[in-house]
Amino acid sequence: MATDLQIASQRIVSLNPATGEVLREIECAGESEVRDAVARARAAQPGWAELGLRRRIEILRKFQAGLYARKSEVAAVITREAGKPLAEALVTEVLVVLDAARFLIDNAWSLLRDEPVPHANIVAKLKSGWLVREPHGVIGIISPWNYPFSIPATETLAALVTGNAVVLKPSELTPISALELARLLYEAGVPEEILTVVLGEGLAGAALIESKIDKLFFTGSVATGKRVAEAAARRLLPVVLELGGKDAMLVLDDADVDVASSAAVWGAMMNAGQTCLSVERCYVHRSLYDQFVASCAKKIQQLKVGIGTDSGTDVGPLISERQLRIVETQVDDARALGANVVVGGHRLPELGSQFYAPTLITNVSRGMKLMHEETFGPLLPVIPFTNDAEAVKLVNDSEFGLAASVFTRDRKRGEGIAKQLNAGAVMINDLLSCFAMPEAPHGGTGASGIGRTHGLMGMREMVCPKYIDSDMLAIKKVWWYPYGEAFTRQMSAFVEMLFARSAARKMSGSLKSAASLWRKKL
Ligand code: NAD
Repeated sequence: MATDLQIASQRIVSLNPATGEVLREIECAGESEVRDAVARARAAQPGWAELGLRRRIEILRKFQAGLYARKSEVAAVITREAGKPLAEALVTEVLVVLDAARFLIDNAWSLLRDEPVPHANIVAKLKSGWLVREPHGVIGIISPWNYPFSIPATETLAALVTGNAVVLKPSELTPISALELARLLYEAGVPEEILTVVLGEGLAGAALIESKIDKLFFTGSVATGKRVAEAAARRLLPVVLELGGKDAMLVLDDADVDVASSAAVWGAMMNAGQTCLSVERCYVHRSLYDQFVASCAKKIQQLKVGIGTDSGTDVGPLISERQLRIVETQVDDARALGANVVVGGHRLPELGSQFYAPTLITNVSRGMKLMHEETFGPLLPVIPFTNDAEAVKLVNDSEFGLAASVFTRDRKRGEGIAKQLNAGAVMINDLLSCFAMPEAPHGGTGASGIGRTHGLMGMREMVCPKYIDSDMLAIKKVWWYPYGEAFTRQMSAFVEMLFARSAARKMSGSLKSAASLWRKKL
């Protein structure tokens, strides 16, 4: 287990991935600081819950207004720290969060309203049952660097509005974006004890799991997700895991090649391919294959790679040298095994040390790393298929199951295929944007994780359901002690009354069981 000494001696450095400029150096939180943050959150949380939904929604509205007013400033912070083009920072980070706040403001009332649970069984007719949804208490959130604002924000907002306190451990690569989120929430009226950002590397995340949080939302890689799940299992900590993907795109034989190729290029290169929902495998019907590859090649060559703050930039740098090496290794491996690099396939040192050329690759095969390991870089492998059944098999040939997309002029056919794909979400004639729709649940199957964020399902993960059952009569119940032979006969008759097919047996059952109502109880 990590000690204070180990953690506190470390510092994290936020760097601009486009230029290498040091943006800020920050001391990591020690184990005791993480524990204290959780203790403060626990002490303050009941007050936050008692504040009531109306007041929490008012605070959320203020946050939304503050973020709207500072949209350009916040987008610039994200671009400097994560490298993505300003347009992407505005749309996939700021806009996504504004809209997530809108969804929570509109829906928190209906989610948190008590829900009646009517009983159909005759023995429960004198009972009223209902469901209340209570905050878990303190929610821990561990988040990655690729959407350094929108991922922690969507989860934090849902946790806060439902009455939880939050301790957030953002990625060590993008701490400033998370601090920006916290600043906006504090300015809106969220007390500091109700939201604490603890900064640090994996050890700070591990310390958060060992602390007294009530539920954990982890977003990150499969490898870390497994470690997190093991640590959480040791103390039966409930977790939602949003992990990696190897998302497939299908281009059916009736698809519009121009539309589908634009989609594939955007889906693979957006955020320099560092999106959990990035297109990492593109399967195209043989009849369109050559035309599709040529169209993608032309479009990729037109992309402007550069610094995110330049308004003309389409594709920014990779977050780190480590991430770049993963992409490079996969391309080298594919080349060595006979793949054809149609466009790109190399670094762009003239732009900076972390730029990689958007890459189109064909003639790939199942054994290549890029076909089964997550790439998380600007890489589009295109593979032909012959018929729909084969396409479905190819898509499902993966341990991941985050999302997939189908391009076709026949929506019904696309929807039919969607049902056969192993994925948490399937989009027809679009991709990636499901993450930006706050109504849509987000999460995957298989190695892509457990549970959901976003939408009503995501909100439900933030609350603990409690069933309340209230009996109108404070009398001894028929089924209480003592048992005995007569009671057993009566209960057998009661089962007949409820479930026998024939009316005669039902009638006889009701007569024979009626005596149980008057029997003497302990
Ligand atoms: P990562 O797993 O390296 O780190 C994620 C977070 O976990 C970071 O904050 C890190 O400090 C922390 N961490 C590391 N070790 C830990 C430990 N032992 N205990 C607790 N916390 C620990 O992932 P990353 O490189 O930051 O992010 C990229 C990955 O995230 C990709 O695999 C991507 O697909 C995935 N991702 C998934 C989604 C989704 O919604 N499914 C969204 C975004 C990113």
